[in-house]
Amino acid sequence: MVEKKKNDNFNFPPVGGKSPKTPKMNGYWMYILIFAIIIGFQFFGLSASPEKTSWQKVKTSLLDKQEIQRLVAISNSGEVEVYLKPDKIENHADLVARGFKNNQKGPHYVFTVGSFEAFEQNMREAQKELPEDQWIEIVYESEYKWTDFFSLIFPLLLIVGIWFIFFRRMNKSMGGGGGSGIFNVGKSKAKLFDRESNIKITFKDVAGLAEAKQEVEEIVSFLKNPDKYTKLGGKIPKGALLVGPPGTGKTLMAKAMAGEANVPFFSMSGSDFVEMFVGVGASRVRDLFQQAKAKAPCIVFIDEIDAIGRARGKNPNMGANDERENTLNQLLTEMDGFETNSGVIIIAATNRADILDSALLRAGRFDRQINVDLPELKDREAIFKVHLKPLRLAQDIDISFLAKQTPGFSGADIANVANEAALIAARKDKSAVDKQDFLDAIDRIVGGLENRSKMIKPSEKRNIAYHEAGHATVSWLLQHAHPLLKVTIVPRGKALGAAWYLPQERQITTKDQLLDQMCSLLGGRAAEELVFNEISTGAQNDLERATKQAYAMVSIFGMSEKVGMLSYYDSTGQSDFSFTKPYSEKTAELIDSEVKEMISTAYERAKTILREHQEQHKQVAELLIEKEVIFSDDLERILGKRPWDEDEDNQSKEESTETESVIENNRDGE
Ligand code: ATP
Repeated sequence: MVEKKKNDNFNFPPVGGKSPKTPKMNGYWMYILIFAIIIGFQFFGLSASPEKTSWQKVKTSLLDKQEIQRLVAISNSGEVEVYLKPDKIENHADLVARGFKNNQKGPHYVFTVGSFEAFEQNMREAQKELPEDQWIEIVYESEYKWTDFFSLIFPLLLIVGIWFIFFRRMNKSMGGGGGSGIFNVGKSKAKLFDRESNIKITFKDVAGLAEAKQEVEEIVSFLKNPDKYTKLGGKIPKGALLVGPPGTGKTLMAKAMAGEANVPFFSMSGSDFVEMFVGVGASRVRDLFQQAKAKAPCIVFIDEIDAIGRARGKNPNMGANDERENTLNQLLTEMDGFETNSGVIIIAATNRADILDSALLRAGRFDRQINVDLPELKDREAIFKVHLKPLRLAQDIDISFLAKQTPGFSGADIANVANEAALIAARKDKSAVDKQDFLDAIDRIVGGLENRSKMIKPSEKRNIAYHEAGHATVSWLLQHAHPLLKVTIVPRGKALGAAWYLPQERQITTKDQLLDQMCSLLGGRAAEELVFNEISTGAQNDLERATKQAYAMVSIFGMSEKVGMLSYYDSTGQSDFSFTKPYSEKTAELIDSEVKEMISTAYERAKTILREHQEQHKQVAELLIEKEVIFSDDLERILGKRPWDEDEDNQSKEESTETESVIENNRDGE
């Protein structure tokens, strides 16, 4: 009703067809109005306010003339109020100016005293001529004004107001997901997909990953047809953990599961359990399982479970993350807390199974670990097929060629290549995406954006060309170096030039292969020293990689005779946070000297190769200066055919995976 009345007051009829802007009569306006009224009363009160004066004036112009009726001393403010006799008020022009009239109630004057004792003394002095019974009485009172009230209440109101706004905002910001508002903070944020959600992704959209897909499909079939398994005494698995590098299709697999399973599917991320309040994570886990049990049979998918599943008690933050541990404990309890046949299956995904708590991984919780690895040649082909479907392709596209050009690429990278190629083709106004667009897209993803406008002096260009030609020549002449694709001195990303290789897909790498790779990495620096007798900062990236590789060979792969067959690698990742090395100072020195020796031997070898093929190296470098990009055909013309390539072509029919980037040698533009 009140609302209606309010609106009536402000609903002016529109003038000239346009409705006037009417102020909204909401809650804030009411507060402001009340505040203004209170202030108004205080400053422009109904009665006239007293004139401020001083003791001196009171004594000479009021007391001596016997115009004072009474004095009221306000004990809490140190003020004295002066009340004049009713017929004396209009004698004072200042009071009349303030609106006072005769007989009007006071106080008429007010003044401040330092101390009431001194004031009384002054009064006695001033009236000593008079008989004591005519002395003016001083009455003591305490008085509280509106302003006092405000000074007390205002800070309180301010705090309550800020608190109120803060919580309203938080309410809004927590509005997403399941529970909205501060009082629902403990509710799980899982998104529920069921038959009505109409998820269109199916297992057909997940290319390759045959084994992983089979495992997941089996879980779906468990849910669809549990009797088939339980009548033989089998139990439905409680959970499966999808483990693999980023972008390999773990989330995609879960989405396909949601699309296929025909049962309710709860999806949330590990970080959704985390909130700034203590105990919220655990309560969200409880709530999630409560909801899931109510909808069983169903699937719960927790993406990036490492956010909560990290091993307990091994936290780098020195125990500062108890909240995460509580959440994990609750998850552990819930996962093994319900009946076997309750039909809630937990699927989780992570890139780092090694850091997960072992209790989480034990059978009975995540019974199955499904590895989702980087795709191999055949899988890459299949993934290309999925992502090329929406593109308009030119005739020259050979999917198996594209798959061969992308070793070490994840599914996400391949999706990116397809998209990037389409964008490049569109930029060139082509009617279809052709092979060159794909090659450009791969180059761009691996090496970064071409930067032809970078200012490079001719002398620098020569330096870069000889450096890259060094890499190319050395690697061409080494049996185990990766086959070269092309060499370029066009700046790309941070690199000023690069030699591009096509890494062979190997399951294991031998010591000779590693040493050959190290030697070709150092070919650039060796070329600089031999040709210019001067070294530059351009080899920083090569040296960094060679050093890391040498340390890995000595201290991880046990490839140094002097250090022996020892591996100081800790696959659990715990030693990342410790300050001590797992070996003695003496061993550390030995490792260092072995690494140094290994690198200098490889460097000398690179120099020897370049010295022996000085003329060819020069030809490669000069061709590079002239053309900026040269291909393996050019190298073959100058250096002859590599005898080993044919063998490796035959071998590469047995494809495998190596997580190495296509770009091998690049120079940082320092
Ligand atoms: P992260 O661990 O970083 O979360 P992920 O393994 O969950 O990565 P997804 O999000 O599933 O990776 O994959 C990203 C994208 O890559 C997918 O949307 C899809 O386009 C593409 N992709 C990855 N793997 C495949 C595959 N096997 N088949 C088809 N597309 C794939």
